[in-house]
Amino acid sequence: MPSTPAASRRPDPAPLTATPDLAAYDAIIVNSSAGKDSQAALDVVAHAADHAQVMHRVIVLHADLGNLEWPGVPQLAAVQAENYGLPLVVRRREQNGLLDLIRDRGRWPSSLARYCTSAMKRQPSRRFMTQHVRQLGLDRPARILNVLGLRAEESHHRAQHPTLGPDPGASNLTRRHVDTWLPIHALTTDQVWQRIHTSGVPHHSAYDHGMRRLSCSICPLAARADIVRACQLRPDLAHTYQQLENTIGTPLRPRMSIRDALAEAAAGAAPGDTIAGGRALPAGTWSW
Ligand code: SF4
Repeated sequence: MPSTPAASRRPDPAPLTATPDLAAYDAIIVNSSAGKDSQAALDVVAHAADHAQVMHRVIVLHADLGNLEWPGVPQLAAVQAENYGLPLVVRRREQNGLLDLIRDRGRWPSSLARYCTSAMKRQPSRRFMTQHVRQLGLDRPARILNVLGLRAEESHHRAQHPTLGPDPGASNLTRRHVDTWLPIHALTTDQVWQRIHTSGVPHHSAYDHGMRRLSCSICPLAARADIVRACQLRPDLAHTYQQLENTIGTPLRPRMSIRDALAEAAAGAAPGDTIAGGRALPAGTWSW
């Protein structure tokens, strides 16, 4: 652990959405994919929590996607959290993984059927909230601030999200009230990278290899260029997707099969164009 958390080593650039009263929350959960947006959101939260003197209430939560996420992602999430002196908790869907879920459903996730996010991220996050509220042992409903790195620039749908508001689906009458905060909702991609570079906190090498997003290495909702690039960087995973595509009999998305993506990837790949490996785990600040 660094002797001085990064949050107190440099002045805080002004956050671009209004900061809620962090001291009013019993727990502040920063959802981290270790990708650029959650990394920038974590940077904003760490500064704000340091200023409000509530760093001890901040927890970084990583929803582990198993083999579908880029190598080294949980380890990088731990490194990023540790840089601010924050604990990392890793949670994974208790039942089968995403590829099994897709096989069972017989259809790929899409913008109209984004069941993957609910099963792989939202449900493990809510289970963690239940567990954490129990540990808090309060004699009143706990107040939880759930932080997400969503940005308006990503899509029209995301642009409509309020930057702060209650989450009725995660709240209940007796045990917890959950608000959701989107601290980097107004940031552009360039501003996100600017914030990350200023922080000095490491980012995932997949970005340096041309990827524009992290999470699942091959995502049916990603841009075509990202899917092709991911096939170049993770050919073994791409072939697993192709087998699944053959099994369920539908392409990854309506106008693009993994077979097509692999062919496009092969045509443009450079020798040694793969990503493997990860970082050593830092000790003591993360748990499953
Ligand atoms: S990265 Fe894509 S496939 Fe993976 S959980 Fe998110 S939307 Fe679903």
